[in-house]
Amino acid sequence: MSPDNKLERGLSPFGFAPYRLTDGEEYMSDGQEAHFRAILTAWKNDLMEEVDRTVHHMQDEAANFPDPNDRASQESEFSLELRTRDRERKLIKKIDEALAMLDNHEYGYCESCGVEIGIRRLEARPTATLCIDCKTLDEIREKQMG
Ligand SMILES: [Zn+2]
Repeated sequence: MSPDNKLERGLSPFGFAPYRLTDGEEYMSDGQEAHFRAILTAWKNDLMEEVDRTVHHMQDEAANFPDPNDRASQESEFSLELRTRDRERKLIKKIDEALAMLDNHEYGYCESCGVEIGIRRLEARPTATLCIDCKTLDEIREKQMG
């Protein structure tokens, strides 16, 4: 299912319904921590399956192209897959870091200024470590540098 379909059904891109706050519930209550642990864990499992699939695909195809032209296109396909895998591995690392912060009850706060990142922002981007203000500043700085 594509992320768009999930959004149309009122679910986050990760297939979870938005967290319902109860009256007076404090930020990063046990319920919220469990909510984000479930999202992060499901996302990580998805990614790991994806990595497995890529590896198997490459192993299956590696021996099957005797023609040099086919081999060339196969090699560019492989390098694309390797980049994708590299990106997936980095993402898995970020998810692991987020899960470790959940364990330490440090999840959900901006690592730059310490404010609450916010539940809705985290549901859209569960590995966010900056609040929206710090993130925006960060992006402006990056643009100026590069
Ligand atoms: Zn901040």
